[in-house]
Amino acid sequence: MQGLARQNGPVPTTALIVLNQPSADAPPHSPGAPAFAGHDPASPLLSALDLGATRGDGIFETISVGNGRPQALEHHLRRFASSAAALELPAPDADAWRSAILAAIDSLDPAEESSVKTVLTRGIEGDGRPTGWVFATHSPDFSHVRTEGIRVVTLDRGYRHDVEQTSPWLLAGAKTLSYAVNRSVVREANRRGADEVIFVSSDGFVLEGPSSSVVFRVGDRLVTPGTGLGILDGTTQASIFRYAEGIGLETGFQLLTPDELRLADAVWLVSSVRLAAPVRELDGEPLAIDHDLTAGINRHLRALTE
Ligand code: PLP
Repeated sequence: MQGLARQNGPVPTTALIVLNQPSADAPPHSPGAPAFAGHDPASPLLSALDLGATRGDGIFETISVGNGRPQALEHHLRRFASSAAALELPAPDADAWRSAILAAIDSLDPAEESSVKTVLTRGIEGDGRPTGWVFATHSPDFSHVRTEGIRVVTLDRGYRHDVEQTSPWLLAGAKTLSYAVNRSVVREANRRGADEVIFVSSDGFVLEGPSSSVVFRVGDRLVTPGTGLGILDGTTQASIFRYAEGIGLETGFQLLTPDELRLADAVWLVSSVRLAAPVRELDGEPLAIDHDLTAGINRHLRALTE
């Protein structure tokens, strides 16, 4: 694609696009300039005063790309808009973001699995213009975790399961740039000999992973803890439920405790890019992996075209 910076010589594995006007509710950065432009991913992009960098004051999405097609794109764009609303950021211009996402994907060389990250920050303090960019890159190989599974520990998130209703200012359920805690819990899991985390509310209910949704199977039912619990509305979980319904499984939402989760027939942490990672150990106790259903889910997710 013309004008888009490429790195790594003739085979670009990353692409970066900067939006001129990330929201129609705020002025453009360069009046009259194109809606977006390529930027060398190796060159500096942000002002040291950007509130995204100095306060984590912004939002993001990470979108799977399968064979050049963004997956669950409209769901991601809806979630991007609702995260912006939660932070009272200027509403993202969906058409501008969609075009920038497609352009970033176009400028990558073909790969079976890539991803796109969209970032919208409040911009420079007092400036009134949000900062927005799209970064596309090839994905690492997740085939091992998708087949062999992950070891998970439950960790207290410190909020009750109804935090979204009682304390909306905590922004639970919005995909904000303030992910330092979501990273630190993985380090804690590593210290405990595990790979990943399932957050539990302070009143004892299963919530989500730090970058994934929890899905589990009980008999012929595929279940997730649900919405309204201060957790993200997962795009992967939604795609998995559509697949499950197509192969005759029931789907549903259920508030449950970690002890109840341990009784499930199979448990997964599901997310864009890594897709469905079966849980093979929960708090030190082995869990059975449903290899057939895991393979079916991941085949379906990798083939998604919308
Ligand atoms: N929950 C949290 C906290 C996340 O950060 C993510 C994704 O990054 C998810 C759930 C899963 O969302 P999705 O399936 O849309 O990637």
